[in-house]
Amino acid sequence: MFGLIGHLTSLAHAQEVARELGYEEYAQKDLDFWCVAPPQIVADITVKSITGKTIVGKYVESCFLPEMLLLKKFKAATRKVLNAMAHAQKHGINITALGGFSSIIFENFNLMEMLHFRNIKLEVERFTTGNTHTAYIICRQVEEGAQKYGIDLAKATVTVCGATGDIGSAVCRWLSVRSPIQELILVARNQERLQALRDSLGRGKIMTIEEALPQSDIVVWVASMAKGMEISPAILKKPSLLIDGGYPKNLATTIQVPDVQVINGGMVEHALDVDWQIMKWVNRYAPSRQLFACFAESMLLEFEGWYTNFSWGRNQITLEKMDQIGALSRKHGFRPIV
Ligand code: NDP
Repeated sequence: MFGLIGHLTSLAHAQEVARELGYEEYAQKDLDFWCVAPPQIVADITVKSITGKTIVGKYVESCFLPEMLLLKKFKAATRKVLNAMAHAQKHGINITALGGFSSIIFENFNLMEMLHFRNIKLEVERFTTGNTHTAYIICRQVEEGAQKYGIDLAKATVTVCGATGDIGSAVCRWLSVRSPIQELILVARNQERLQALRDSLGRGKIMTIEEALPQSDIVVWVASMAKGMEISPAILKKPSLLIDGGYPKNLATTIQVPDVQVINGGMVEHALDVDWQIMKWVNRYAPSRQLFACFAESMLLEFEGWYTNFSWGRNQITLEKMDQIGALSRKHGFRPIV
């Protein structure tokens, strides 16, 4: 059995979903309520591969909300992740994806040091960040998106916002070796880490996002922002392609200007319907066959019986592992959304 640990994108989003599900009393509650709410298994999921194999899984809502980070409620945020992991393990789930901010909190707050939790020892082999599949899918979105929207990759300047992150650094490695792009621009806040990444890649220009946007043909957004940023469409190059892989989205507003295409980054479409209700709450842009690549990674591991933390730690995603998970993705009927 596979599992998905997810969360909603804001307090307003959580209140809206509670209301739509008929829990009016929860829809009225403020952040303090969500800080103490326990994790819940809110959906059973059945997925069929194009190979014919069928697997089942569960969706665990952690009740984490990004405002907990914005308002520095770090203890609540870490307990949400540990509680959700313990809940998944107690329910016998073999391999669970740590969706959205779950793996970021796990790393940033060093939860590896807290695996003995409430009479349970968390077994990290039962969890995967899902970031290898996400990075692979985003790279395919760059390549297929460029082709679809008439951008010549060989002449393109590609910016990665969140370049030093787990997903961002893997995308940079792929773009440096596999895709013949002309220029790579690296954006993040910590200059030391940017410099170290640049040194390891042997290429890339370090810039602020404001400097990068007017010269970028493609922008990959994979920064861990608890709240999306406002950008003025006027400064974007025309034409250009924006691939927003953030959850919550890196772009605060929907950009609708001629010659600027926006793709939901890190999203896949399955060849067959997935039997679940939860995706419409987690990602309202997508119909029933579309899902986050990190969630799909736990499904792929379950299809293959690979009960191991395939994606783990930070900045350790190799091109070989991206190839491996990419091959499974195609084998079982997933494809990038462009
Ligand atoms: P990491 O924490 O590993 O990396 C985050 C990166 O963003 C770092 O480079 C960080 O560098 C940078 N960053 C953070 N804030 C800013 C800012 N304000 N401006 C510029 N750069 C910033 O995160 P992950 O790689 O694990 O995840 C990245 C995003 O992808 C998240 O939004 C996450 O929720 C989403 N995600 C999507 C998935 C999917 O299936 N579609 C799966 C998993 C994650 P610095 O701190 O130096 O600025």
